[in-house]
Amino acid sequence: MAITIERRAPSQLFINNEWVDADDGTFFGTYHPANGELITEVPAAEAVDIDRAVNAARAAFNDPKWRNMDAADRGRMLWRIADAMEARQQDLIRIEVIDNGKPFREAQIDLREAIDAFRYYAGWTTKLQGDTIPVRGNVLNYTLREPVGVVGAIIPWNFPLLMAAWKVAPALACGNTVVLKPAEQTPLTALELASVAAEVGLPPGVLNVVTGLGETAGAALVKHPDVDKIAFTGSTQVGKIIMRTAAESLKKVSLELGGKSPNIVFDDADVDAAVRGSFAAIYYNNGQCCTAGSRLLVHESVADQVVEKIAERAKKMTPGDPLDPKTRMSPVISQEQLDRVLSYIEQGQREGARLVTGGKRAQYNGGESGYWIEPTIFDQVRPDHVIAQEEIFGPVLAAVRFNDEEEAIDIANRTIYGLAAGIWTNNLKRAHRVAKRLEAGTVWINTYHPLDAASPFGGYKQSGYGRELGAYALDLYTQIKSVWVDLS
Ligand code: NAP
Ligand code: MG
Repeated sequence: MAITIERRAPSQLFINNEWVDADDGTFFGTYHPANGELITEVPAAEAVDIDRAVNAARAAFNDPKWRNMDAADRGRMLWRIADAMEARQQDLIRIEVIDNGKPFREAQIDLREAIDAFRYYAGWTTKLQGDTIPVRGNVLNYTLREPVGVVGAIIPWNFPLLMAAWKVAPALACGNTVVLKPAEQTPLTALELASVAAEVGLPPGVLNVVTGLGETAGAALVKHPDVDKIAFTGSTQVGKIIMRTAAESLKKVSLELGGKSPNIVFDDADVDAAVRGSFAAIYYNNGQCCTAGSRLLVHESVADQVVEKIAERAKKMTPGDPLDPKTRMSPVISQEQLDRVLSYIEQGQREGARLVTGGKRAQYNGGESGYWIEPTIFDQVRPDHVIAQEEIFGPVLAAVRFNDEEEAIDIANRTIYGLAAGIWTNNLKRAHRVAKRLEAGTVWINTYHPLDAASPFGGYKQSGYGRELGAYALDLYTQIKSVWVDLS
């Protein structure tokens, strides 16, 4: 079955609620990963365009229309954005599927969670309050919780609309303004989001979207002296560059970075549930999740069975049109990512891990078009193998065997990352005991991947810092002012 994507007109930047070209008029392409076809072109913004967007965001931040908007009205505004996204859902899902290549069904879930984030933070606008503090003396001391100012948001390509929502919703709820730079591979839904928000009355300059490359547009945003905070999701490597650059102007920074999450199956687990969960842990979004359960730590006594059953499922995955609601497998995002993942697969073979299934580029439509990789499993992986240590960000599972609980915990924690972890066991005490000892920002017990706008999300160790979602994200987008009043 052929994929049918319609070519879209070249896009523009969205600044101050207007569509504008980049200053020097250059563009770059965005492609459908399932067949590599060009979808459209978007402007390649440079420092001068970032400057323009930051100026718009600063003016909007200072404009009484936004600054003095009643908290309840700001909440209503976020709710209206959520309603508008819902009304436009078919379009948004379709654009996301075409730009990112993820299966329709997964884009549907992303959209629902993105809407959830706006509704959840809509409720917070009227609850951002300070304290009165019993200080010494005849003095009144109270705190004000105020916005940070202009937020630069830089997001990756794996969940384009959802990552935009996770940053924009709490940032706006707290009264900030935003300049958002989407990933170069997936710029389209961020632009749609901004135009949807403008349509329902978000004042000009409050949300600006600037497409461009990380090294130019992204770097300019991080350097810009009038940006107060950078909220970043992406690779640990770029996270480090951002921190270094942000140090120059002491911007506030929050980072949501990579992972190499352990998913631990104990010998007392419900094997079938563990197999289903472990399969989803690695293959949801084709392994392109920062939380992917990419290390399967499995007890020696059930390892053969668990690995075999996951492999049976993996072998049934076949490439299909991402727009077809029945499709479960997706391509990886780009040629670069395809090459990267395939080189990790070669590395695994060189290191002597046992290739159980997959390992090659997958064929779609009988040709070499698109960026498809067979779901791949390595067994007998040693904890120090490169494929057990580095984030592959593709459909590659590394199974490491263990003999007891202590060893499992030790292997699980022996990585620079600490984003998430899974535990499969029917032993209640073990479940909580192990959860407590894992160095990870999220631990899933007898499940994997659920997230909720109300529950904090973020990393231990080099998986980043700051917590997105829940009440915790409010700390990322507000600062506290202590006010003293002499009453004597
Ligand atoms: P990335 O380079 O970290 O990209 C994330 C975002 O940062 C993109 O918008 C990117 O722009 C931007 N960026 C890149 N260099 C920058 C710079 N010097 N200053 C400011 N912004 C910059 O990630 P990637 O290249 O897309 O993927 C590489 C690897 O990162 C993946 O294989 C995976 O291991 C990891 N990754 C992790 C996550 C996660 O959620 N934790 C998400 C995506 C990727 P461009 O789009 O133009 O590069
Ligand atoms: Mg694309």
